Amino acid sequence: FLKGKTALITGSTSGIGLGYARALAAEGASVMINGFGDAAEISGYVEELIRTSNAGALHSAADMTKPDEIRAMVADCTAKLGAPDILINNAGIQHVSPVDSFPEDKWDAIIAIILSSAFHTTKAVVPAMKEKGWGRIINTGSMHSLVASPFKSAYNAAKHGIAGFTKTIALEVARDGITVNCICPGYVWTPLVENQIPDTMRARGLTRDQVINDVLLAGQPQKQFVQVDQLASLAVYLCSDSASAITGANLSMDGGWTAQ
Ligand code: NAD
Repeated sequence: FLKGKTALITGSTSGIGLGYARALAAEGASVMINGFGDAAEISGYVEELIRTSNAGALHSAADMTKPDEIRAMVADCTAKLGAPDILINNAGIQHVSPVDSFPEDKWDAIIAIILSSAFHTTKAVVPAMKEKGWGRIINTGSMHSLVASPFKSAYNAAKHGIAGFTKTIALEVARDGITVNCICPGYVWTPLVENQIPDTMRARGLTRDQVINDVLLAGQPQKQFVQVDQLASLAVYLCSDSASAITGANLSMDGGWTAQ
């Protein structure tokens, strides 16, 4: 049902973002993916997306800490695939450390990649969405958009920020046929989660199994990781006409994390 539509998804060479890209392509959307990684692997994803969608797909290596590169990515998408009808702000990194030793460059990078990049992409795509009278902006938040855990000050600040940004833009474009929502996952098994295990082991003096069972899934009542496909199905639903009245919402898919 997304044939003729173009989706731009930041941070989509891996994990949840790649899941969003695959699911939107399966509905016929042209997709621009973005992010870092192995060049051959990324070309493989682009070819796969073209095959599944029977439409266009491209990769942008724009760095989400760099506003100029973000604007160039949107311009490139508009020129080659069409102005984005769907924008998913998904790029994210994590750093786990007590605040008194939290590195300043990590703070700046996390705020830039998760929060400021969403401002720059949104600012760049909204004019064309308004002209068309249709648009979908989906931000990847987190349970840490709604509640906190220690040692993740930058991430939790950025994710709480994106929740507020979501509500604000939803109000601004409420009469323009554009919805703006935030999907707030609990722990999903992706490289981002896997990569924070060593730092959490160090910060808390725990073993790998203890981090997985007693830290990561400690607050997740279902005791299971959320699956990428489940999040992608929610994103596809938010792009449908049935979801046109859902806007400004922070939608949890967190195995019960924030019910506590
Ligand atoms: P991931 O590490 O698998 O993917 C992150 C993506 O962002 C990759 O494509 C990477 O190349 C890209 N990226 C990183 N820095 C970038 C930069 N400067 N510029 C452009 N792209 C950049 O992680 P994931 O788990 O799929 O996370 C995706 C989103 O979901 C993030 O916003 C994350 O905070 C959020 N999230 C993840 C979980 C989880 O448990 N995995 C839970 C809640 C929220």
